[in-house]
Amino acid sequence: MHDDRKAAEERVARFLAERVRPAVYSERIAMDVSPLQVGDTWGSPWSTTRFEVAGRIPAQWSGRVEAVFDLGFDLTRGPGGQAEALVLDLDGNPLQGLHPYHRSLPVSGPEVRLVVEAAANPPIVASAGRGTHFGSPDTAGDEHLYVLRQADLALRDEDAWHLMLDVEVLASLMRTLPPESPRRHHILRVLDNCVDLPFAEARGLTAGLLSRKAHDSEHTVVAVGHAHIDSAWLWPIRETIRKCTRTFTTVLALAEEYPELVFACSSAQQHAWIKEHQPAVHDRIRQAVKAGNWVPVGGMWVEADANLPGGESLARQLVHGARFFLDEFGVGPDGVWLPDSFGYTAAYPQLARLAGAEWFLTQKLSWNETNRLPHHTFWWEGIDGTRIFTHFPPVDTYNAELTGEELAHAVATYAEKGIGTMSLAPFGFGDGGGGPTREMLEKARRLRDLEGSPKVRIAAPSDFFREARAELPDAPVWRGELYLETHRGTYTSQARTKRGNRRSEALLRHAELWAASAAVRLGTPYPYEELDSLWKRVLLHQFHDILPGSSIAWVHREAEAAYTEIHSGLSDLISASAGDGESLLNAAPVERREVVIVNEPPPVAGQRLSGGRHAAFGRAPALGVGGFLEFNAHPVRATGAFVLDNGLITVHIDADGLVRSVRDHATGREAIAPGAAGNLLQLHPDDPVKWSAWNLDASYRRHRRDLDAAVSVELVDDGPLLAAVRVERRTERSVIVQHLRLAAGSRLLEVDTDVDWQERDTVLKAAWPLDVLAAEITAEIQFGHVKRPTHENTSWDAARFEAWAHRFVHVGEHGWGVALITDSTYGYDVSSDGRSTTVRLSLLRAPRSPDPVADQGRHRFRYGLRPAADIGDAITAGYTFSLPLQPASDRLLGKPLVSVDNPAVIVEAVKLADDRSGAVIVRLYESRGGRARAVLTADFPVTSVSETDLLERPLRPMASGRNAAALSLRPFQIVTLRLER
Ligand SMILES: [Zn+2]
Repeated sequence: MHDDRKAAEERVARFLAERVRPAVYSERIAMDVSPLQVGDTWGSPWSTTRFEVAGRIPAQWSGRVEAVFDLGFDLTRGPGGQAEALVLDLDGNPLQGLHPYHRSLPVSGPEVRLVVEAAANPPIVASAGRGTHFGSPDTAGDEHLYVLRQADLALRDEDAWHLMLDVEVLASLMRTLPPESPRRHHILRVLDNCVDLPFAEARGLTAGLLSRKAHDSEHTVVAVGHAHIDSAWLWPIRETIRKCTRTFTTVLALAEEYPELVFACSSAQQHAWIKEHQPAVHDRIRQAVKAGNWVPVGGMWVEADANLPGGESLARQLVHGARFFLDEFGVGPDGVWLPDSFGYTAAYPQLARLAGAEWFLTQKLSWNETNRLPHHTFWWEGIDGTRIFTHFPPVDTYNAELTGEELAHAVATYAEKGIGTMSLAPFGFGDGGGGPTREMLEKARRLRDLEGSPKVRIAAPSDFFREARAELPDAPVWRGELYLETHRGTYTSQARTKRGNRRSEALLRHAELWAASAAVRLGTPYPYEELDSLWKRVLLHQFHDILPGSSIAWVHREAEAAYTEIHSGLSDLISASAGDGESLLNAAPVERREVVIVNEPPPVAGQRLSGGRHAAFGRAPALGVGGFLEFNAHPVRATGAFVLDNGLITVHIDADGLVRSVRDHATGREAIAPGAAGNLLQLHPDDPVKWSAWNLDASYRRHRRDLDAAVSVELVDDGPLLAAVRVERRTERSVIVQHLRLAAGSRLLEVDTDVDWQERDTVLKAAWPLDVLAAEITAEIQFGHVKRPTHENTSWDAARFEAWAHRFVHVGEHGWGVALITDSTYGYDVSSDGRSTTVRLSLLRAPRSPDPVADQGRHRFRYGLRPAADIGDAITAGYTFSLPLQPASDRLLGKPLVSVDNPAVIVEAVKLADDRSGAVIVRLYESRGGRARAVLTADFPVTSVSETDLLERPLRPMASGRNAAALSLRPFQIVTLRLER
């Protein structure tokens, strides 16, 4: 037989495009539109345009009639940054969203009258380009962005519609089959015959092809309806609320037509918005949950970044998410759904399991630029050894459309072939929302059991995980973090947003601890409502495009304003609990004696500083209240050649303001590598090929400019308690002022930085070459730490050329080490030259897209060098650095509310129980990676102690007596205790 396959394939493609698709609507009439007309432009950026449409369905039309719209959609761009709308009835009830891929809705007549609320979301491309003026209402302009092209009533030709879907499914399957496959040839011959037949007859032929059953051993794709809706990204939070209404009503309408639809919906916050703004839609969602069409998944408040939020924040993401779903829908989510976050902390398996999750789903690792994760279905093991059953869909997208190509890709890449037979595919338009379409659901029906294709079954994620786990109980194990080998700039971009988060986390800890102390000691009412609302605002801003710094200007300016309000709200709560005065609050889990700066003179003589502040020596027990001490430590001396010495360490700073030596008196060891300079600020060009705010390309390292000359270096003599060297550096545009400060009694050299940052496409690093040889460093994560290599032995090591840490990075040899402590910096890199180890903190970036003015302007942050530190010292320094002793009144004076007798066991949170029973909740963890026994003692009468999950639901009673409970923890174990009063 002569081979004319190519011509036949082209003929089928043309038939579909030019004859079948245009015939789907056999009749159309234009509706009346007012006040707009079809052909009019509409919509200045971010504006809302409301118009009414009206039409009469002709009596002779029989069959399904749809209202069909084209708001000026652009199919060359992804959904999200373009025209969208909500269709309402005349009573204002939302019916369905309009979207580039949801242009029609079924209507009944004869009279049809609808209201369209159209949003002119401007076209923003984040992956490339030099930033957008559309990203802020101040710069977006007021030109109309869209043309209303169509508002019709149309009669659907059922034969054409179904033939279109038949041919799309079969042609798409055909293209994925090997050229020598008989099935491929058979599909082609039959489709080629269809070209010349009336649609109804052609459907007879396609029905024959579609009736062939799949092979017994075919892979099964469990298709889960989904709409990834970023809680803010290329649009502000305000628009997300409207996006949710559009997508959710579309899904609810679709479920009525296609009862097999299962729609997995994450983010309690998005449901909470709908409950507040569209209560009727929320009620319909509750019905859909009962009917099984709507499945709340993920159990988090938002789909948060999974690297940067602190330990307690991730716990609260899970608590607030799960609690909302339980309260509103009566179902607790049983898994964590995080398709799109930029890497996953090794603390996650334990946190997820403690929140009741049995499974974990992510898709993002398919974005790795270097290595491929070897598994798709596996047990993921965290730092404490907890394992959670995890799936990474081999379809490699969370916005699948159920094409033959996608399904074949899922089968081809699925790594557990031979031992497993199933994978999950989230389908539906996402990022900007949209969700599943009728076409996808029709395709799923045709793909249920089709020769040559994997079997497609629509089901809930829980069903998939239950079956996958039953077939693969001994799935492979992945130990440690799931590092994403791209988007490394998100540890640093939009530093003010990151600082706002870190400060919020510290203040929340203060606020809960002091409010609980005041409630127990003084009977002060506990501010449940205020804390709940402040926590939720902080959790919202940990969303995976806000905290990572990858949103438009509008989002980040709003985030900065939100943090100002949050900080003031928390400060008010702290004052209300603890008062103002001359005692000291210590919210850190360690006892401390240190220099404190106060605004009013303390009871003992301190040293006057500039601006009316005073330095005094303070002491306080762990999580307790203390007072000022007479100063009896070795004073800190500053001498002419910029030498700071407090009897514990001596710091030499040269005439250029560089740290030439940090010597530890106890051991005589030097922290700075021989001949090197510490705190050397370095600029690199940082203009990634794409995804400016997200990516730090490896090539950034090729060029470097050392800021090794100072404009001025001067000694700031603050008396016997504090001494500092002020160093000012400038580039052509930016000014960096740093105070390198040493306090009496402290081994920490603090660097307090004030920057006017005016660079573009530039990253600023602070380099610390350390006289320590180390093959790996220790980086703090949530509730523990991980080790990461200083070398590039393997492609996996090399790909981690930039990583993140929370409050410290520790570099140690046996018996001696150095820690770098940060108050709001996350990104760092590390390298070794075989003699010394250099840690460089990533202080600032200046990406251009999507926010063209990202990071421009003023920044204030602190970091510090702590020589002679073991891991315990690093942990302690991390806590004390971010939780300075706070002057307060003496109303809470007394012993700490709770105390633990083992320094390895750290109290992370003290609060009253969310059930408002008055019980005290204490969350603690083993911090050093070893076994620990400890006794927790409460300074109030306790009737019983139980261990609970993160949601404060009892797991088991604890043996307790005399207001104390004995604990035995495994490495990095997190324990939540409930102390009944
Ligand atoms: Zn996303």
